[in-house]
Amino acid sequence: MQEPKKIVELNPPFAERKILLHACCAPCSLAILECLLQNGFEPVVFYFNPNIFPHQEYEKRKAELTRHCKELGVEFIDGDCGRDEWLAATSPYKCEPERGARCLECFKIRLCASAKKAGELGLKIFTTTLSSSRWKSFGQICAAAKFAEEKIGGAKFWDFNWKKFGLSERRAELLKSGNYYNQTYCGCEYSMRNSAPEKSV
Ligand code: SF4
Repeated sequence: MQEPKKIVELNPPFAERKILLHACCAPCSLAILECLLQNGFEPVVFYFNPNIFPHQEYEKRKAELTRHCKELGVEFIDGDCGRDEWLAATSPYKCEPERGARCLECFKIRLCASAKKAGELGLKIFTTTLSSSRWKSFGQICAAAKFAEEKIGGAKFWDFNWKKFGLSERRAELLKSGNYYNQTYCGCEYSMRNSAPEKSV
C-alpha cells in the first residue's frame, strides 16, 4: 500500500525525538500519531483520563486506543484512573458549560499526571491530543499545561496546535477509513447533557 503523504513538516524548538503524548482516545490520536511518526518522532502514548464516564466508556476508548497503538507499534502506557481525585476537583464546577472552569481543572489533572509520567520515563517533552478537538479551548489547554510544568517540574509542554495545518481533515479521513469507535460527548458525566450524534470530540 502507498505511504500517505506527509501533511505537516514539524520543526519544534527542541531536539528530542522521544516524547510523551497524552492521549484521550483513538480518534483524537490518529492524525497526530501519523504526523509524529512521519516526522521521525518516537511517541510514547499515555492514557490518563479519569474524566471519562461511565467506566464501560472509559474501557471502550482505552481499548480502541490500545488497538491503534498496537497497529502502529507505538508504546502505550495505561495510567491509573484516579477517578476520586478528578471528581473532588471538578464537582464544584459541575454546572459550568464546556470550556468553563471545570474543563480547566480537568485539563490540569490530566496534564499534571502526564508531566509526572514524562519525568518518570526520563522524557523531556510532553504534548496532548486534547488540542486536536475543535470543542476545546486551546488557550485553556496551554494554561493547564503551564500549571503542570510549574507544579511538577522537569518535562516541558510542546504547545503545538494539533488541529491546524490540515490535521483536522486528516483526522476525519483516518477515522472513516479505520472504522474506529467515535464518541459523541467529551467524556465526563456533565458533558453527556451536550451529547449529539454529530458531535465528534
Ligand atoms: S467537558 Fe470534557 S474537558 Fe470539560 S470537564 Fe468534562 S471531560 Fe473534562
